[in-house]
Amino acid sequence: MKVPKEDWIVVKDTHEAVVPKDIFEEAQKVLRSCSGKTMRIKPSQRFRGLLKCGVCGKVLVRSVCKEPYFYCLTRRTVPDALCGQIHLRERDLETALLASIQNQARLLLETEKEHEEENFLDVVNKEIRDCQEAVSRCKAKQAAVFEDYAEGRITRQEYLSSKRDMARQQEEMTAMYTELNVKRVKLQQMSGSLEKSDLGRYACVSELTRELLVELVKEILVSGNDTLEIVWNFKEWMVD
Ligand SMILES: [Zn+2]
Repeated sequence: MKVPKEDWIVVKDTHEAVVPKDIFEEAQKVLRSCSGKTMRIKPSQRFRGLLKCGVCGKVLVRSVCKEPYFYCLTRRTVPDALCGQIHLRERDLETALLASIQNQARLLLETEKEHEEENFLDVVNKEIRDCQEAVSRCKAKQAAVFEDYAEGRITRQEYLSSKRDMARQQEEMTAMYTELNVKRVKLQQMSGSLEKSDLGRYACVSELTRELLVELVKEILVSGNDTLEIVWNFKEWMVD
């Protein structure tokens, strides 16, 4: 997933998770059940080896200063290399990463929630059948109304107004039908690929530990303008 810098402001100066209450509570439950096994590593070592230069591929180096940042060493040997543009503040990185993790976790929880509703796919299939039947009924009614008009049982005005109504109904049905089909395809894809991951417990994560980073992040490619490309250790849920 690419996270351009202009998107970083989403969680500016705060690590508060923006998640619905029920999801928050669900995540807390999981968190409680697996607390106690967190091992701490020096905060400055957290990102060790995970950040790579998107230009030359080298592992980024962390500067030791008041406002730590990551840079590519190549800029020392190749002064005009694009690598020189990389100046990724640790604080910014943390903000962007936390937001992405929370987002991924939230999406996963939502997906699992949908699956919990038993046979969600069956429900959608039934809705699609209902929709098809409604369209058939609509067409039959249209024919009947035309017959009424042809045989003089209703006026031309009544016929036209009824025709308009039914055309609108049919349009709505068709739109709904299309929407349901998209949903069905999505559900079919998800049920085939749903991983039993406990990513959900990270929905409300507010601190990036080494353990967490290593578990979730394969690597982060940093390019000019500090654009991040996060390669996760898990299948991405994002559809963007
Ligand atoms: Zn580089």
